[in-house]
This record gives sequence, structure tokens and C-alpha cells, in this order.
Amino acid sequence: MTEHGLTEGCLKAILNGTKLDAPVVVQLLDHRVINNNNNTGQAAQTKRFRLSLNDGRNSFTYAMIGNQLNDAMERGDFPNYSVITISKHVCNSQGQPGQQKKVLIILDMTLKTPGDQVGGKLGDPQPLNDLGNNPAGNAAPPSHPAPQAANTGFGAGGVRPQGGQNVSGFGNNNGGGGFGGGGNNQGNGNKSGGFGSGGFSGGFGGGNNNQSGGFGNNHNNNGPRPQTNGSGNKNANNQNFGGGPPSKRPNLGGNNGSAAPNPFRPNNSGNFAPNSGQNNGGMRQQTPSFPNGNAANNTNGSSFGGGGFGGSSGFGGGAPNADDMDGFGPGETPKNIFPLGALTPYTNKWTVCVQVKSKEPIRTWTNATGGGEVFSMWLADASEEMKCSAFKNEVTKWFDILQPGKWYYIRGGQLKPPRDARFSKGKSLEMTMSGETLIKECTEYMEPPKITFKFVPINELQDQIPNNVIDVIGICSVVEPHTSFTSKLGKQFTKREIELRDTSQLSVRLTLWGAQAESFDEANTNAVLAIKGVKVSDFGGRTLSAVPGCDLVVNPDIPEAHSLRGWFDSAGAGTAAQSISSGGGGSGSTPWANLLEVTERVHGTNLDVKGYYFEMKGTIMKVENTDRVDRILYRGCPNKIDGDKTCNKKIIDIGVGQWRCERCGVDHTTFNWRLMLSLEIADFGGCIKFVGVFQEQGEALLNRKAHELGEMSQNDMSAYQAALTALHFQSFIFKLRARMENFNDENRLKYNVIEVKPLDHVRYQGIMKDGLRALLTE
Ligand SMILES: [Zn+2]
Repeated sequence: MTEHGLTEGCLKAILNGTKLDAPVVVQLLDHRVINNNNNTGQAAQTKRFRLSLNDGRNSFTYAMIGNQLNDAMERGDFPNYSVITISKHVCNSQGQPGQQKKVLIILDMTLKTPGDQVGGKLGDPQPLNDLGNNPAGNAAPPSHPAPQAANTGFGAGGVRPQGGQNVSGFGNNNGGGGFGGGGNNQGNGNKSGGFGSGGFSGGFGGGNNNQSGGFGNNHNNNGPRPQTNGSGNKNANNQNFGGGPPSKRPNLGGNNGSAAPNPFRPNNSGNFAPNSGQNNGGMRQQTPSFPNGNAANNTNGSSFGGGGFGGSSGFGGGAPNADDMDGFGPGETPKNIFPLGALTPYTNKWTVCVQVKSKEPIRTWTNATGGGEVFSMWLADASEEMKCSAFKNEVTKWFDILQPGKWYYIRGGQLKPPRDARFSKGKSLEMTMSGETLIKECTEYMEPPKITFKFVPINELQDQIPNNVIDVIGICSVVEPHTSFTSKLGKQFTKREIELRDTSQLSVRLTLWGAQAESFDEANTNAVLAIKGVKVSDFGGRTLSAVPGCDLVVNPDIPEAHSLRGWFDSAGAGTAAQSISSGGGGSGSTPWANLLEVTERVHGTNLDVKGYYFEMKGTIMKVENTDRVDRILYRGCPNKIDGDKTCNKKIIDIGVGQWRCERCGVDHTTFNWRLMLSLEIADFGGCIKFVGVFQEQGEALLNRKAHELGEMSQNDMSAYQAALTALHFQSFIFKLRARMENFNDENRLKYNVIEVKPLDHVRYQGIMKDGLRALLTE
């Protein structure tokens, strides 16, 4: 124990695979922010903190904290030189094979002594390299002479952590060996079941440097062996582990003696009889405390380390084998669970225990290579949340089994950066089930995912940049019925609009989507809603759109909710709130948008009433039906109605040069040509079809009057067509309205040109510059 109670040597022990049950105390030397790009090229980034730690004996610079600790770190709760207590952690290897390095992820930590009371670096720690070793030779000499088995760095009298426990199960597992002599035992890369008969024995007496590098790459540099070994050390210098095919469930690697190992009931007495052959490995939870005295005789050494893999809960092994089922059989419980936050794309074999937070209904998809069914859900544990999708067979297999709110062990599947950053909540990883995925319900009590909110009050929403994802809390003042519609691409959408208000006396409209929209209870009217993950939109004043899979909590037990409840019940309910969401349309200036933004915005909005107005620079790709006069022009009734308004209803040819208006009941010999173009308009963000352009706007586009075009259509068809096709590939500034219209009982998004202007290059350049600036400041 040092002055500040640092757990000396714990960093090396952890990095070498030892699972520590008791919290450890270390010093935070330094921290920095790294931006973890999610590789999709999109904006979503996950901010992560990287810490440099000191345990008094060693220092290590590649510790990360779970995202849930980011806020505390940003607040400065953990200044440099602070002494901290780590109560939850996981250690794994990251990187491509061959370039792996150890990463220690801290899932929970508390401040023990603030940095300013410590003042500086404690002790003279030796740096540990990427693999958790002291780079120079065989390392820092043990602080206690052999036979104290000091290679994990724990001195005499110290409490040994669990030995041989394979914490991570990553491909690069550390045996955590070294219970033998004072050497520096490494069980790197041990794989499950890959031990030859007789197991192996590493980490013998003093001075050993036993590195077992996994399959095919083993080094045993055994030093002098102490003669205290009993039968257990018959396999003195075995080079034979690692090479063989994974054996079926084990002979744990740790089995070093004659006694038959029992992987399921490791004999963890903590007093390791010398060479008893007791196997202490296995991935089973072990909680031996190692009375140091006996460690001296325990020359089984890294048989512990190796043993860590023996249990092979399907981890670490090569090809799938029966071991992959380990823990998934009836009555079994999978062990060695990874926190979601510890998974990386390079994690080979993993099991997580997660709650299904939300599950979307099954959808069908088609693309060039086929199609099928898909569903996605959000999973969470105490460390992180993650989107998970299942396709085709996996839909059939798992959809009905997985129920929101329940907990499951999930093993196996693909871990990749998100396919579409818009739906990834800024996460850098998502899970896709595969044919090897195993799922089993977890009925034990599990700590629920912690949701931490950072609420933006409604009166501050105006200051948010559009597309920011924020948290919001409010009294749910309006709940509209949910509606379904089909997008132009044939996708089914369900949405529901609600309204939130808070003590600022303002209210805001919020759109829920999919299953959340369907299942939202209208009885939540006047309840407090806290939502983590809503996107701010500048469409129609300020509106909010729930991000798929967001956390929506009704009447949460948090101070902000109680305070709102109190305000509403005592005063708020009797007052009116002013909406900051105008519902879109007429008022104010029309927002500029490209078609990609429009698609996003109109999906988040109630377009049934007024529609969404926007301005864009568009290029006319096509004028529809240039060969059909009747699709572009019609004869309109010239009657004046309601004073100076013209009827303009389409009149019917009754022959003999006369036309009848059915609205007015009058036959005419004259008429007005009416124009209704249908365009395909594109910009870099997309393409919209069947955009309606009527009379005056059509005349402005064509730069000729409708009656001129009408006459051309009667006298010179080729001139008529040439006038229309002259519009192809010309660009204009369009003011458009997007509105949901009902055709044959089907809601369709319909665009109409409200105004068309020639392309003003100076103005357009200004708009592009503003856009660039906004991008740069985001
Ligand atoms: Zn008429």
C-alpha cells in the first residue's frame, strides 16, 4: 500500500488477463479526447476519452472510459493526478491480428483523492507497452523475490486476483499466468481447446518468461525450474500446445497434473496444493483469493493462465465447434459476458447480456440482389446501447423470441460500423445477426441501462442547429392519432405527432416513428415525457423528430420530472402555451433545402394540412408527356365567376366548334388555353418526379404564354415539342410545396411548383457559402 492506497501492480495484472473482483485504486496521470470516427464518412462521431494511469509500479497510456462516464470527464470531475477507484472494467485487445494492443476500458470509477491534493505523479512507474508488458526484457523485477510468484505484480501479503480468469475472451487472451515463480508469464494468445494432451505448464519458477503465443506461435523460455514441482510438471518444456485442433470441451489448458480437471467446478480453494493438478482454469467465474504463502509452492504457474481458456465458452477457438454452444444449453448460464461498450469490430468471440430496449416491426426490403425480411432493435446494457438487425432466416428464427424489456444473452454475429449514420444515434458500431448467432433469455436480475439525460429547455430550441440530436423533457399536452403512409420508394411509415410544453410557457411539436408511434399511449396526455435522442428540425419554426430507437420515458423518477409535474399541477395546467412550431408554410422566409434534406424533413412532419414549402436550385431532367397535348394543355372555361375570377374549368368538346362548361352550364365558342406541366426535377441530393407546374409558373418556365403553346399544338406539333424539350437540363430556382395527397386511398407525397425564378448565380453562390460555413462550424 502506498500513501494513497494505490493497488500496486494491478495494471499489469489486469492487462494480462487477471480479473479483479475488488475495486482497484490507481492514479490518473493524464487524459485526452479522441474522436472516434465511425468510418462511414458521415458526421456521426463518438467522443472518447483516453487516460494514462499509474498504479505506483507501472503506468499504462491506453485506458479508455465507457461513454457513460464522458459527462463526468467533461465536467472535470477527474482532474489529472487524481487518485481514482476503478470498480468495473474490462480489458481487451484491439486492432488487426499482428498489430494488436491492449485496451483497458473503465466502466465505472469514482474519485478518491482530487488531483490538486495529490500534486504530481506517485512513485516511479515503469511504462507498460501496448501488450501490457514492461518493454525492456522481462520486465520490472518483482518487488518480492521468488517464490512469491510476483509476476502479476502483487506482493507478498497482497490479495491475489483471480488467476487464469480469461476476462476478455478476445483472440489475444492473456493467461494471466505467473503463479509460479517470479518470472514474467504471458499467456498471450491462448486459444480454447488448443492444447495438446497433457496440457502445458508454463510459468514455472523464478525467472521464467513463458510466452505462449497461441496457435502455432509459442515460445517457452523457461528458466531454471524449481524442483518443487510435483507430478504436475511432468510436461516441463512443452512446446506442444497450441498446435492442435481445438479439442472439444476441455481438458482445460490448465490441467497440468494427473487429476482430471473439472472445468465446471474449478477447485478454487485458493490454496493451491503444490502440483495437485487441480485445474484452476476455465472460464467459469472463479473467485479465489490467493493466500500468498502457498503460491510459493504452486508451481503450476501458468497452468492457471492457460486454464483461462480451457472452459472455452466458445471464445477464442478457431472454427465453430461444440464449445460455441457453451452456456447456451438447457440450465446453463453463459459466462464471461462482454459489456456492449467493450465490443469492437475486431472482437472475435463474444457474448453480451443485453436488454431489448425497442424492437421495430418486420419490414421487407428489395434491392438489385434480392430482398427479404428485416427487423431491427436497440439493445442496451449498463455500458452502452447498440442497434442490432436481423435479416431473412434470422428474422424467422428470432423475431418472436425477442421481447422489448427482456434480457438476453446474445453470442455471435457481425459487428460493423453503421450502414446508415442517420439511424445510428452516432454510435460507431452495430450488430447484425448471422447464422451462428445464439440467443438465450436471461432471467437473472440485471442492472438496467442507465439513461442520463441532458435536457434542452423548449425556449432554447431556437438556438439549436438543425439536425442536432438532443434530449427533451416536457408535459405531453397533445397526442394525435398515429397515421401510416407509404413513401415513394414503397416504404411503409407510421408516425404520430405529439406536443410537449414546459415551464417556459412554450410548446413544441414532436414526431414519433414506427413502433414507438404505434405503441404510444394516448393516456400519456399530461404525463411528463423525457426523451433521449430527438432531432431538431427548422421546418415550420422549430420541430422535433424522434430518432429511431430513442429512449422515451414516461414520468421518469428524476428531479426535472418532479419539478415539471409540480409546476404543471399547481399552475401550468391553467395556462396556455405558445407553440414554437408553426406547422410549416407561409409565414416567414422559405427555407432553402436540397432534396436530401427535404426527404428527411418531410418524413418528420405533418404535411397533411399546409404542406412543406422550400426553395431549391433544381435542374429539369424531363418534361413528361411531350407527345400528349391533352396531358399538358386543356381548354378552360372563359366565364367570369365571383366577380373578376375566371372559371377555367376544363370544357368538353361538343363538336361544331363548341365546348361546354359543366360547372357553368354554358356552351362556348372561345376558351382559354390552360397549362399544366409535369416535371422531373433533380439536384445533387435527389430527384422528384411528377412535380406539377401550373399556368403562370409554366409560362414563366417556357417564357411564352399558354395560348401560344396551345396554338403550336394545333398547328405545328414539332415546334410544340421542341418548346417543351428545350427545358431539359435547364436549371432554375424553384419554390416548391411538398404535401401529402390522397390518391385512390393512398397517401402520396406530391410536389408542386409555387414559383419559378431564373437561376441567380450571385444569390446561389451566397447560399452555397452559407452552407459551407454552417458545415465548418458544426
Ligand atoms: Zn365554367
